[in-house]
Amino acid sequence: MKKLLLAGAAMLTATAALAEYPEKPVTIVVPFSAGGPTDKVARDLAEALRKPLGGQAIIIDNVGGAGGTLGATKVAKASNDGYTLLLHHIGMSTSPALYRNMQYKTLEDFEYLGMINEVPMTLIGKPSLPATNYAELTKWLDANKGKVNLANAGLGSASHLCGLLFMSTTKVEMTTVPYKGTGPAMTDLLGGQVDLMCDQTTNTTSQIAGGKIKAFAVTSTKRLTTPALAKLPTLDESGLKGFNVSIWHALYAPKGTPKAVTDKINAALKVALKDPDFIKREEGLGAVVMTDARVNGPEHKKFVEAEINKWGPIIKAAGQYAD
Ligand code: ASP
Repeated sequence: MKKLLLAGAAMLTATAALAEYPEKPVTIVVPFSAGGPTDKVARDLAEALRKPLGGQAIIIDNVGGAGGTLGATKVAKASNDGYTLLLHHIGMSTSPALYRNMQYKTLEDFEYLGMINEVPMTLIGKPSLPATNYAELTKWLDANKGKVNLANAGLGSASHLCGLLFMSTTKVEMTTVPYKGTGPAMTDLLGGQVDLMCDQTTNTTSQIAGGKIKAFAVTSTKRLTTPALAKLPTLDESGLKGFNVSIWHALYAPKGTPKAVTDKINAALKVALKDPDFIKREEGLGAVVMTDARVNGPEHKKFVEAEINKWGPIIKAAGQYAD
């Protein structure tokens, strides 16, 4: 009887703790450096999440490296109490095909909390690059065979994936230069240390608008409506038929995080995704905030499974892997 009462009391305490979640700051791990596009989405989302998550502070922890797998590993192994979350992108579904010794299982080690946005990429160049449009860029690439380098955020990152497709469709070999995120890669591109990069519009829009970098095309199949990007052609219309790369961002918690907590986070996420300020900020950077069923964990998980099946064979055919 005493045992039963004790068990009952423990259950009540746990339920009360869940009802109060969050009662301390929540950390969102971003698996790339500060100042990059994933970081930007996380900081904007943190602002929009704060109120629906009871006004608690949300801390961004940048854990860049190995194409996002280091940050994802940190969250997979963190306490499953709802105080450590992961904001990742398409790398969630490309890493399994690339990393032979990944320290987590994408579909087994996380609770899926829902998708945030979809973001196209842009093909950009250093300011001193003589080409000013895509046709001139192809001539420049031809004239500089074997000398061109292309920045990315490591194997499995969005920039790596986009660069891989760009090299295979143009049949131009480039030297890839990995960073811990495209925030620092952008600094080097601005400084002329690297020649080209593919990056999410959430990182490139303000640089393009300010005329600080060369912009050649967008990776979506349709042109974008965001004013600074509207004049850019698609790679598809520029001759790379069918070229289409769209990056998505989503939120995860370590496996076993109580359902009462994941439900609370998902409900807060849905409120944040309807926040007019958040929507305005995202749209101003070329992103589309999610409104479909993938804002729910189970639907997002099904989507990730489909993405793994879509990208796996492409990556394997390209002969890419890391230990
Ligand atoms: N844009 C990066 C990527 O290529 C990641 C980042 O720094 O947000 O995946």
